[in-house]
Formats: sequence, C-alpha cells, structure tokens
Amino acid sequence: MSIPLTPRQLLSMKKYVVNRKCTDCGFEVNAPLTKREAAFELFDATELFGPTCVVCGGSKSTGSFTMPMLDEELITAWAQDEGLFVERQDEELILAEGRYLEMILGALDSPLTLLHKKHVLLSALCVIIYDNAVVDGKEWKPNNSLKQRAIDELNKRKELLAQAGDSIMDYIQKVVYPQLSKD
Ligand SMILES: [Zn+2]
Repeated sequence: MSIPLTPRQLLSMKKYVVNRKCTDCGFEVNAPLTKREAAFELFDATELFGPTCVVCGGSKSTGSFTMPMLDEELITAWAQDEGLFVERQDEELILAEGRYLEMILGALDSPLTLLHKKHVLLSALCVIIYDNAVVDGKEWKPNNSLKQRAIDELNKRKELLAQAGDSIMDYIQKVVYPQLSKD
C-alpha cells in the first residue's frame, strides 16, 4: 500500500512537459507531466488542453513532449504492467542500449515480469547484438564488449529465448542466433 501524494508533492514530481502548438495562429500551451506520465505517454492532449485553440478556435495543432531516460523504476513498472508501453511500435529498439543492460537483465530474471515483456527484453538483447554486428555506417563503431556481454547473457537464457519464437524479428534472428552457443 502506498500513501496517496498531496497535490504539492504531485506538482513537484511534474518535471516533464507536453506542448501543443496551434497550426493556425501559432499559440503554444504547455502542461506539466510526471516522469511516469511522460515515459509511458499516459496523457491525453485533448483532455489537457481542450479540443480547440483557446485563442483562435483552430482545431489543427502539433504536439511534442519530453521523453525521460528510462531507469530501473520505469523499467520495473513497465515489465509488470500489460498496459504500459514505451513507444508502442519499437519498444525493443528503445530498450536496446548498453545503459539499460543491467536493468534488462534484472527484469528478465524477475518472477514478476510478464512473459510477453520478457520476450521484448530478449528482443532488446538481440538488437544490441545486431546493432554491433551489422555495421553499415562508417561513423558507427561497434561495441564488441557490449555485444559479447549480450551474447553471454542470452546464452544463459536460451530456454526462454526458444519460447520467444517469432516475437524476435526474422532479420534479427538470422544475424544473432548463429552467434549463440549451440548446446
Ligand atoms: Zn490558434
């Protein structure tokens, strides 16, 4: 059981911002968001700002918001809740960063993490390997120690990976799976 926050505490947590700019007159409005609201897009711009521009009444607008870096608290919450998303389409791409590796492993090994989310986390490990194996731009220096670490961690979890099946994208499987141990 957690104690409900006071309005003042809640406001002090709202360090992130969502912005809407009217396409017709250029009027901009902002609203504060908590880290959690921003990370998982738990807000509705129409609800926050109303359906139309307060200055000209226009209904066309562009929006933007600050996306926080993920941390252990956010990744743990995401892992245990079917209703939370970090970028609906590309969750594994967002998570496939060296700085998230320890958090990915922690969530993978937690009994509280949902199976579907474990598959996304395994995908993220695969993407780390892929990104550091297929190097098509001259600017991009592969991080071989990170790649090897991800390979080692996947090798420890091959049973889980076998269950993930098609949730790991085909083109990723083709590059990554031959690099894993055979036994
Ligand atoms: Zn306007």
